[in-house]
Amino acid sequence: MWGTVKISNCCYESCAFCRLRAGNSALPRHRLDADQVLGCARSAAKLGYRSVVLQSARDSQLSAGWLCDAIRRIKGETGLSVTLSMGERSEAELAAWRAAGADRYFLRFLTANTTLYRCCTPLPVMIRGGVCRC
Ligand code: SF4
Repeated sequence: MWGTVKISNCCYESCAFCRLRAGNSALPRHRLDADQVLGCARSAAKLGYRSVVLQSARDSQLSAGWLCDAIRRIKGETGLSVTLSMGERSEAELAAWRAAGADRYFLRFLTANTTLYRCCTPLPVMIRGGVCRC
């Protein structure tokens, strides 16, 4: 069993199929700070979980370094294994998170149809930059 910490649902992208897309102004947004994330991990450890999943949309306020620090704190203070689910990211971000101690990465598979994927997703997500409005 693992606990999932939904760090942020703020996203600067506009994938047509996703309710978290930037243009969905009806969605209440949230963003946890580092202490809140660590508090969730501590609670998971106390409840007997062995693993935690850190999940977020493409939130421009969450830097790669910020997440590296969060991973190190969770691993150092709780011993939980850490899985990330942060969407499509650059090789540099993935390498930094792995070096910080992340154990695995969840990446949702949407479709093998390139035409459909390009229709619904502003490509290439991983090399675009943006700023969240939330
Ligand atoms: S980048 Fe992810 S969270 Fe953001 S709109 Fe696209 S699918 Fe949704």
